[in-house]
Amino acid sequence: MAHTIVIAGAGFAGIEAALHLRDLASKKDLDIRVFDKSKYFTYQPSLHMLATGVKSKKAITIDLELLFSKKGIRFYPEAIDKVNPKTKTIYSENRKVDFDYLIIGTGTVNNYRNVPGAPENALCLKTLADADKIKNSIHHLIDKTKVYSQPPKIVVIGTGLTGVEMAAELADMVKKRAQVILVGTSSHILKGFSFDAIGYAEKILKKKGVDLQFNKSVSKIDSSKVSFRDKSEIYSSLTIWCGGVRANPVNRRLGLRTNEYHFIMVNNFLQTNFLDVFAVGDCAYQFKTPQAMTAQTASAQGKLAAGNIWARINDKELVSYLPKQSDYKYLVSLGKYKAFLFSQKSLLKGLIPYNIKAFVEKEFLFKRKNWIWPIKKINLK
Ligand SMILES: Cc1cc2nc3c(=O)[nH]c(=O)nc-3n(C[C@H](O)[C@H](O)[C@H](O)COP(=O)(O)OP(=O)(O)OC[C@H]3O[C@@H](n4cnc5c(N)ncnc54)[C@H](O)[C@@H]3O)c2cc1C
Repeated sequence: MAHTIVIAGAGFAGIEAALHLRDLASKKDLDIRVFDKSKYFTYQPSLHMLATGVKSKKAITIDLELLFSKKGIRFYPEAIDKVNPKTKTIYSENRKVDFDYLIIGTGTVNNYRNVPGAPENALCLKTLADADKIKNSIHHLIDKTKVYSQPPKIVVIGTGLTGVEMAAELADMVKKRAQVILVGTSSHILKGFSFDAIGYAEKILKKKGVDLQFNKSVSKIDSSKVSFRDKSEIYSSLTIWCGGVRANPVNRRLGLRTNEYHFIMVNNFLQTNFLDVFAVGDCAYQFKTPQAMTAQTASAQGKLAAGNIWARINDKELVSYLPKQSDYKYLVSLGKYKAFLFSQKSLLKGLIPYNIKAFVEKEFLFKRKNWIWPIKKINLK
């Protein structure tokens, strides 16, 4: 009889896990079922380009039903509500499914860090809907530019990867029609990167007219201003929050061991405290060797967890997820035709990394998109 494998969440990790399992075994051996609360996969590394109108929704999404039906994988566009790992049952809005093995890959959610007024008055950049809202708000603001005596201010909060990419792309979009201000708590942008990379990114941002403000911790956000702990204020026509992510609230309903921040604890084989339940990507915390939360980690972990399930089924040895620090590469875009590729060993700046980033996105989406309509669709129950 086929083993039932359920995958909760079809992001980078979940998609890779499902496709790799299908590569390893046929429908006769594995009944693979995927749940996602959304019908579409979103390529999050390009969300800032959707928010600024550089890319369309279609260009950075994948229709999950089409992707999976082509591979003989059942897809349920439903949110997972809870899991009982003891009885091996997963519950969604509409159904309950018994599983032999489970992979959780439900990612994270935006984190407003309890800043008063932030959820009501600042837009964030985590989902398709968020990017859409930002795009509409910018258009609305630009349309009204003529009524302002001074260019309106757009404040981007957060000097990490998302904030930097967003600010650079925004500056290209609005040009002189609005002032883009990038603020953060640290003394420079891109904490954790080399001085060389930081210097390059800061130079590009300044060239584009972005006003960089450091050592500023937000205390409150109102509809028209951002206040800081040092008592200063910035009047803001549009505030965009890029202040990080937190654990998905669903993690608390999975019956699994989590860390103090509610990320799911996994060993190096990516198993939770229930050995037939795996967690991968951003939702997981590899407690012996914590990993960076990136698309590259999520994809690699999804693939590895799939392989480890197949190994368990076949009484083979499991493999650890232990990448070397030097394996990590970061591609950071800085608006039009500018980017850098950062690794422990090297830094590549300019047009080449910009093209590499565009290529990585195209390759990922092209491989998984349904350029060929499935000849035969399976019946989804
Ligand atoms: C704006 C932005 C820019 C980024 N840029 C980069 C970058 O340049 N490079 C890079 O490597 N990384 C980047 N990242 C990080 C990268 O996108 C994540 O590390 C990656 O998406 C993690 O993959 P994942 O599969 O763990 O989670 P996700 O890709 O977030 O997928 C989680 C999936 O779970 C689904 N889900 C959530 N809750 C439920 C539920 N209860 N039931 C069912 N389904 C559920 C979601 O709909 C989603 O499809 C960026 C992230 C953002 C937000």
